Amino acid sequence: MINNNFPRMEKAIKLVENNNVILMLYPTAIVHSIDGLKQYKVDFVNECCDCEDKQFNGVSRCKHIFAAQIKTGMYRLPRA
Ligand SMILES: [Zn+2]
Repeated sequence: MINNNFPRMEKAIKLVENNNVILMLYPTAIVHSIDGLKQYKVDFVNECCDCEDKQFNGVSRCKHIFAAQIKTGMYRLPRA
Protein backbone atom coordinates (compact mmCIF):
# COMPACT_ATOMS: atom_id res chain seq x y z
CA MET A 1 0.00 0.00 0.00
CA ILE A 2 1.35 3.40 -0.93
CA ASN A 3 0.98 6.03 1.72
CA ASN A 4 2.14 9.42 0.52
CA ASN A 5 2.11 10.74 4.04
CA PHE A 6 4.70 8.28 5.28
CA PRO A 7 7.91 10.28 4.66
CA ARG A 8 6.30 13.31 6.27
CA MET A 9 5.18 11.20 9.17
CA GLU A 10 8.70 9.90 9.77
CA LYS A 11 10.04 13.44 9.79
CA ALA A 12 7.24 14.54 12.09
CA ILE A 13 8.09 11.78 14.58
CA LYS A 14 11.72 12.91 14.51
CA LEU A 15 10.65 16.49 15.26
CA VAL A 16 8.67 15.32 18.28
CA GLU A 17 11.47 13.04 19.52
CA ASN A 18 13.96 15.90 19.25
CA ASN A 19 11.65 18.21 21.22
CA ASN A 20 11.40 20.57 18.29
CA VAL A 21 7.69 21.08 18.90
CA ILE A 22 6.72 23.74 21.42
CA LEU A 23 3.06 24.06 22.28
CA MET A 24 1.90 27.65 22.57
CA LEU A 25 -1.51 29.10 23.28
CA TYR A 26 -4.08 26.60 21.97
CA PRO A 27 -4.30 25.78 19.08
CA THR A 28 -0.86 27.09 18.16
CA ALA A 29 2.53 25.43 18.19
CA ILE A 30 5.98 26.52 17.14
CA VAL A 31 7.92 23.83 15.30
CA HIS A 32 11.65 24.23 14.83
CA SER A 33 13.22 22.65 11.77
CA ILE A 34 15.54 19.68 12.30
CA ASP A 35 18.57 21.85 11.52
CA GLY A 36 17.32 24.48 13.98
CA LEU A 37 17.57 27.27 11.42
CA LYS A 38 13.88 27.88 10.88
CA GLN A 39 10.75 27.90 12.92
CA TYR A 40 7.20 27.56 11.78
CA LYS A 41 3.98 28.65 13.36
CA VAL A 42 1.39 25.91 13.21
CA ASP A 43 -2.31 25.92 13.92
CA PHE A 44 -2.79 22.22 14.54
CA VAL A 45 -6.58 22.41 14.78
CA ASN A 46 -7.23 24.29 11.55
CA GLU A 47 -4.16 22.66 10.00
CA CYS A 48 -2.36 25.81 8.95
CA CYS A 49 1.39 26.21 8.70
CA ASP A 50 3.56 28.89 7.13
CA CYS A 51 6.19 26.52 5.68
CA GLU A 52 6.95 26.16 1.98
CA ASP A 53 5.62 22.61 1.83
CA LYS A 54 2.20 23.68 2.98
CA GLN A 55 2.12 26.95 1.03
CA PHE A 56 3.43 25.79 -2.32
CA ASN A 57 3.10 22.03 -2.55
CA GLY A 58 -0.55 21.96 -1.66
CA VAL A 59 -0.20 19.22 0.91
CA SER A 60 -3.08 18.92 3.31
CA ARG A 61 -0.81 18.40 6.30
CA CYS A 62 2.90 19.13 6.36
CA LYS A 63 5.31 17.50 8.80
CA HIS A 64 4.98 20.41 11.20
CA ILE A 65 1.23 19.96 11.50
CA PHE A 66 1.70 16.22 11.92
CA ALA A 67 4.35 16.83 14.56
CA ALA A 68 2.15 19.19 16.55
CA GLN A 69 -0.77 16.79 16.33
CA ILE A 70 1.39 13.88 17.47
CA LYS A 71 2.72 15.99 20.35
CA THR A 72 -0.77 16.89 21.54
CA GLY A 73 -2.08 13.35 21.09
CA MET A 74 -4.57 14.51 18.46
CA TYR A 75 -3.01 12.20 15.95
CA ARG A 76 -2.52 8.65 17.12
CA LEU A 77 0.26 6.78 15.43
CA PRO A 78 -0.81 3.50 13.90
CA ARG A 79 0.69 0.57 15.73
CA ALA A 80 3.03 -1.48 13.62
ZN1 LIG B 1 4.76 23.12 7.82
